[in-house]
Amino acid sequence: MSDCRSGILLVVSGPSGVGKGTVIRALLESNRDIELSVSCTTRVPRTGERDGEDYRFVSEAEFEQLRESGQLLEWAQVHNQDSYGTPRQPAEEALAAGHTMVLEIDYQGAKSVREQLGERAVLVFVAPPSWQALIDRLAKRRTESAEALKVRLASARREIGNMEMYDYVILNDELGEAVASLRAILKAEQHAITRFDWQQLQQALLDQADEAAGEA
Ligand code: ADP
Ligand code: 5GP
Repeated sequence: MSDCRSGILLVVSGPSGVGKGTVIRALLESNRDIELSVSCTTRVPRTGERDGEDYRFVSEAEFEQLRESGQLLEWAQVHNQDSYGTPRQPAEEALAAGHTMVLEIDYQGAKSVREQLGERAVLVFVAPPSWQALIDRLAKRRTESAEALKVRLASARREIGNMEMYDYVILNDELGEAVASLRAILKAEQHAITRFDWQQLQQALLDQADEAAGEA
């Protein structure tokens, strides 16, 4: 939105398997001007995942170098093992350009982004309709071994335990409704008075009013 003065980092968190990726993909398909942050991770790629698209897959040493040189806006160890981090430069550029960028990151990352960027970040938590639905979705996706699945369910408990720090909660029961909710949240946030360039609009309208009065 060109008249949105300051950009937005739309942080989307929630337990693994809840449908964050699915909901975000649908949002990006309908809103082509939204950017997606591509995280760096030390996790090994899953079948079908592409470097630079799903994640930037890096070694432990590379991740350490990125972290130490300040190139990550935030980073966290997720699922008690692999490191994940948000590249700083694209996020800062999106904010400066007044764009919206989606960050799919965990609760630790969300907390860090909120601490650093305050209201410039909008925090959305995606919740499953039930614990069993979450297990079913994770199992249906068939991307994890039984062990990895257990680890993700343990992380899911921690994610759910930190729900209170978010600005919005979306229940991902019916997918279309969840996507519509995320779209509506973004729309409303883009029009928040704190982001909208209302002074410029006000001035333009008042100038026009003066001009019209002068002509009369
Ligand atoms: P996440 O990114 O949160 O780990 P995914 O987007 O990979 O989760 O979704 C996990 C699985 O759940 C996928 O198989 C996806 O098709 C399915 N899924 C997502 N949203 C829904 C929904 N609303 N109802 C049923 N299944 C869903
Ligand atoms: P996976 O892709 O391994 O299934 O899940 C990774 C988890 O790590 C997801 O819950 C996702 O939200 C989180 N994650 C992905 N990228 C980042 C990141 O850059 N920073 C943080 N803090 N978490 C991330």
